[in-house]
Amino acid sequence: VEPALAELKERLTEIVDLARVGGVLAWDMEVYMPQTGGDARGTQLATLTSIVHRKLTDDRIGELLDDLEPWASTLPPDTDDACLIRATRREFEKNRKIPTKLEAEFTKARADAFGIWVKAREDSDFAAFRPALERILDLRLQMVECFAPYEDAYDVLIDDFDEGLRSEDVSRVFETLQPELTALVEEHAGERDDFLRGPFDVSAQDALSREIITAFGVDWSSFRLDLTVHPFAVPFGLGDIRLTTRYDEDDVNSLFTAMHEAGHGLYEFGSSPALDRTPLVGCRSSSLHESQSRLWENLVGRSLPFWRWFYPRVQETFPDRLGGVPLEAFHAAINRPVRSFIRVDADETCYGLHVILRYELERRLVSGDLAVADLPDAWNTRFEELLGLEVPEDRLGVLQDSHWASGYFGYFPTYLLGSVLSVQIWERAAEAIPDLSEQIERGEFAELHGWLRENLYALGSKFTPAETIERVAGGPIEPGPYLAYLRGKHGALSAA
Ligand code: ZN
Repeated sequence: VEPALAELKERLTEIVDLARVGGVLAWDMEVYMPQTGGDARGTQLATLTSIVHRKLTDDRIGELLDDLEPWASTLPPDTDDACLIRATRREFEKNRKIPTKLEAEFTKARADAFGIWVKAREDSDFAAFRPALERILDLRLQMVECFAPYEDAYDVLIDDFDEGLRSEDVSRVFETLQPELTALVEEHAGERDDFLRGPFDVSAQDALSREIITAFGVDWSSFRLDLTVHPFAVPFGLGDIRLTTRYDEDDVNSLFTAMHEAGHGLYEFGSSPALDRTPLVGCRSSSLHESQSRLWENLVGRSLPFWRWFYPRVQETFPDRLGGVPLEAFHAAINRPVRSFIRVDADETCYGLHVILRYELERRLVSGDLAVADLPDAWNTRFEELLGLEVPEDRLGVLQDSHWASGYFGYFPTYLLGSVLSVQIWERAAEAIPDLSEQIERGEFAELHGWLRENLYALGSKFTPAETIERVAGGPIEPGPYLAYLRGKHGALSAA
């Protein structure tokens, strides 16, 4: 057993290292790369993807798994080695189904489409983006065909972001949420308060962002925070976590962006070191990942205890704008539903409706019920039904997100599932830490961070998403706690 296990691990470390190199290239593409660098970068990423794919699907990996599986089945099932063998088998079988050439072609097409999308969005010109999107969708569907027979093509797509999750589970949760979210928005929506409109000095926003996430547990000897157009977080290693954000003088949304990305970063940072350089390091479930960005951004960062602690700092930083605004008014303002066009700027309640719109449209694109050419009209019609606004231009509608340009069909639902899960996990943490609110009010987050690290972050990807959710939340994804949380919050705000 030992030589076989050592050889397998050796091969897997190479794969993980190369994947992290890909992370560096992708990060640079969105943070520093000059405009004309896209062509070369796309080729490099495609080459790297081919190498990783060849290594991962090598016959030798299959032989080693065959040798090791009888032994692994005698181990306690939650040991690192037993989890490693199971996860590697799933990954191996899945990747063997996709030809390396198709994988590389897709990677190159994504990089091309991303550049085209950036320009098309600036110009609000869907026609310029349409051929690239058609190509991406076509390649994605070719990849889905590699998994035939399947029950639902969309299930194959979600599986890349949340292994084992099925569209019928997503639809069940979303069908419960949608009418309830619509009702909450109708009852509580209002206008954005004037005091939340800037100007707010950008370097002051940067300083406040750093102050908050340092308190959350971001350790600057292992983290960086840089600027980008669409914020994200990516780990290059357990000791090198990259967060990105953006600043706008007109609002203080950057504070929530920083908390959000810090949540992603802390999750990766908290992986057990024993899992480093294995496929089990870090979290590979997008829903679980998003549950942590949402937990820090919303459950912590939009709560009254948090602002009892931090609001004085924001007031003294922006005395002209907020010096005379009471805490309760500020807290109500950052929680009030405000109908608007852009998902990433949406409040917590409208946000779910933005996601449901994309989920519905994706399912129709994938099933062939909706052609790419008809996407802007379908978007605008459904957007008006769900959010009550008429979309004036595609820049504010169908062109706003990079996901489809990146080929990420099946990704959007994980955003809302993450919000749903964040409350289920939060309730467990609050049970374990009876004075959690008081701690937050004092700006103390170490015990919360510690609980999350021990009960979730450390697990990395040892278990399937469903198994991990069961462990940390005590049951499967359920919309009830999330809805109760939103209703409770809005009820309290309107009673105040
Ligand atoms: Zn996120």
